[in-house]
Amino acid sequence: MNFAESERLQQLLTQAGWKETKNVQQTHLLIAIGCSIREKAENRVISFLKSNSHLKEKGTIFCLTGCTANLHKEKILEKLPFLDVICGPNHIAEIPETVENCSPGKCVLKTGESDNPFIECVPSKKDITLMVPIIKGCNNFCSYCVVPMARGKLQSRSPDSVVREIRNAVKQGIKAVTLLGQNVNEYGKDFTIDYCFSDLLCEILKIEGLLRIGFLTSHPEDTTEKLLTIMAQHEKIMKHLHIPLQSGSDKILRAMNRKYTVEKFFNVVEKTRKLMPEISITSDVMVGFPGETQQDFEMTLSFIKKVRFNELFVFKYSPRPMTKAFKLPETVSKEEKEHRHKIILDTQKQITRSILNSFKGKVCDVLVERKSIKNQRLYIGRNIQGIPVSFESKEVLEGKIVRIKITDCAEGILYGKVDEECQLLQGSQSREKMRK
Ligand code: SAH
Ligand code: SF4
Repeated sequence: MNFAESERLQQLLTQAGWKETKNVQQTHLLIAIGCSIREKAENRVISFLKSNSHLKEKGTIFCLTGCTANLHKEKILEKLPFLDVICGPNHIAEIPETVENCSPGKCVLKTGESDNPFIECVPSKKDITLMVPIIKGCNNFCSYCVVPMARGKLQSRSPDSVVREIRNAVKQGIKAVTLLGQNVNEYGKDFTIDYCFSDLLCEILKIEGLLRIGFLTSHPEDTTEKLLTIMAQHEKIMKHLHIPLQSGSDKILRAMNRKYTVEKFFNVVEKTRKLMPEISITSDVMVGFPGETQQDFEMTLSFIKKVRFNELFVFKYSPRPMTKAFKLPETVSKEEKEHRHKIILDTQKQITRSILNSFKGKVCDVLVERKSIKNQRLYIGRNIQGIPVSFESKEVLEGKIVRIKITDCAEGILYGKVDEECQLLQGSQSREKMRK
């Protein structure tokens, strides 16, 4: 989400006449987007700003945005007294005007809710993919999570605004979109009309020229049969589902306020795989939540082995202010969290490797995104499961779907070559059509 917001902010600033520089020392305006989901991320943005505070002497304007701005509001001035603007994620569109009008020694605060927190975006002509925020905030209040406090209540973007943006983006050359929200399945729950995420997907599917539609994140509790059926029916929809598990112990899931059981989660996985055997299912897991015993941890580990996710993001529990779990005493030591984190990562690494290995010899349709930065003869794209695929070609292929035969793999990437047989077949079919 932060990445998508930074892209949009960059566009607004360019329109307002600002130019990007890669050299921090040259900046007249320094904007930091702070993530507060874990303490480590928050500390990183605070130290980044502190380490550049000397730029204040030459008049650089300092702005803090993202979750960190909304969570701490003016209290963050105790750590960063030199800030000129503190702007929560719902007010990003106001940043260009605010930084233009701010005056030295007086910090402007723009936080809390906004009637229209979304920014419509016109992507640059060279882009193939676009991230499209469709929901801001979250109403779920998982006991460890700061998002509802940092980003406010759930607010769905209007279907008109989403569809208009994607239609314009496709005219500019965009071929694939990823719809973003903390829980995309809750899209429309705040509307006065009956309109849900599946309805939005069906609208987007009608956009001509759009080749692929993906989305992140799905809450296991709200991953409905209706949504899975639409995913299975439409080949434009990515065969990738990111459903965070968090823990393999029902006791811990209850304490986290996750509202599903391990059995229910497994049913979602089974139903999904039955409808779409080729689906890639990825997830998030947390270790060291207060009260997590060795037995709870082992339940998580064995569940991971049972499900065999394509990929897993593993986090060490970090107590966050204003959350319900913040009041709970920590029961797992730093070293033990480290140890559990490593065990899960190592286990998952083997599972991911064996899944990627199973692609060898198979043929994938790859949407080509760009040339490799290191080797201009290599292209990078993604297959329908969203897995990066690299291959060699001399032709101009950006934005095209190319059939690739997978020959090898490494960590997180597949390698292959253009499937000549298939390309010939497609060629002869089109020649056949032309003769008719
Ligand atoms: N909306 C998503 C998750 C968003 S946050 C969902 O409902 O699952 C992304 C991930 O960060 C979470 O899935 C969780 O695993 C991790 N996370 C969130 N809060 C955390 C905390 N306090 N400590 C450690 N990890 C955390
Ligand atoms: Fe946080 Fe839970 Fe909302 Fe995800 S669903 S953003 S974990 S409160």
